[in-house]
Amino acid sequence: MTGNLIYKHRTSDKKIALTFDDGPDPKHTPFLLDLLKAAGAKATFFAVGRQLESYPSLARRIVEEGHDLGNHTYSHPDLSKLDAGPMHEELLKTELIIQNITETKPRLFRPPYLSCNRQVVKAAQKFGYLTIMASIDTHDYKRPGVKPIVGTVMSKLNKGAIVLMHDSGGDRRQTIEAMEKLLGKLNKKQYECVSVTELFHSPNSHEDA
Ligand SMILES: [Zn+2]
Repeated sequence: MTGNLIYKHRTSDKKIALTFDDGPDPKHTPFLLDLLKAAGAKATFFAVGRQLESYPSLARRIVEEGHDLGNHTYSHPDLSKLDAGPMHEELLKTELIIQNITETKPRLFRPPYLSCNRQVVKAAQKFGYLTIMASIDTHDYKRPGVKPIVGTVMSKLNKGAIVLMHDSGGDRRQTIEAMEKLLGKLNKKQYECVSVTELFHSPNSHEDA
């Protein structure tokens, strides 16, 4: 199913959105934030509620440094297997946590495992979310090595792409090392890394690319 799911943004600007799921994570997120800051890059973090409860100061840092903080449920279940009640609870619990930390309602949502059905899409819409998938999946969670992670992004690179990576859920050293290389390569190709919100507001957006 593709209706109402956002995989990329149609634009003629050399911009892409790097996204990191499952954090914040005290072992990895600070390193990523340092790298992004040094490169003048912005990203989007799809955070899990129980991680946010444990590390609210990291969530504050993400927002303070100009990145997007999106809703990635409270406990990372496969939402397509849940009934409406628990599904709504997963979304709203994390929404409240984010709202308490940032004083803003999150607008971006990504379903765990990118697993979606009609009910999930309906719930996300009902609660005012844009459902963000990805057009470039690095599979970094499988730890394929730094080179394949970098290679996947660079070989599929295109204007308006949304890149899926992870800053938690296991050892993410490969992701961090890949990011270090990627930020340099993207800069050389004159690609700007922006938050998903900023990508949607690209001046040269169009309906049909
Ligand atoms: Zn996830």
